[in-house]
Amino acid sequence: MPTNHRPVFRCQLCGECCEGRGGILPTAIEIEIIARFLKMSVRQFKKTYLESTPLGLTVKNKTAGGCIFNDQGCCQIHPVKPRICRNWPFLPAILLHENEFEAAKSVCPGFDPDCRYEDFLWWWRKHII
Ligand code: SF4
Ligand code: SF4
Repeated sequence: MPTNHRPVFRCQLCGECCEGRGGILPTAIEIEIIARFLKMSVRQFKKTYLESTPLGLTVKNKTAGGCIFNDQGCCQIHPVKPRICRNWPFLPAILLHENEFEAAKSVCPGFDPDCRYEDFLWWWRKHII
């Protein structure tokens, strides 16, 4: 049981999590939805915003690093952003491994600093799934 009932996570909109080296792999459906949101054809969207990697098409990074859609902490495709972005921090690796949870907590100010791994799992079971 949790030690408190505060939300374990509340995004502070700092944009730090969008400054990594990518790894955002939108699905085919997400590509269509984002392209429509940006009023672009799928072909145009792929050419402008995606790049090919051994894992599939990923969202490009800016030259200086960070996701191409991150504009000073604001996601330019927020209403239609890929599922992986919407699900953070409730991602499989963080849910399955306490060390991943601690690593995420240490870099993301959205976590309640008093939140323990057990609290995080409890919150996910109660409010997310
Ligand atoms: S690093 Fe955490 S608090 Fe900052 S924008 Fe990302 S999810 Fe939100
Ligand atoms: S798509 Fe939006 S939420 Fe996802 S990494 Fe890029 S800027 Fe961040």
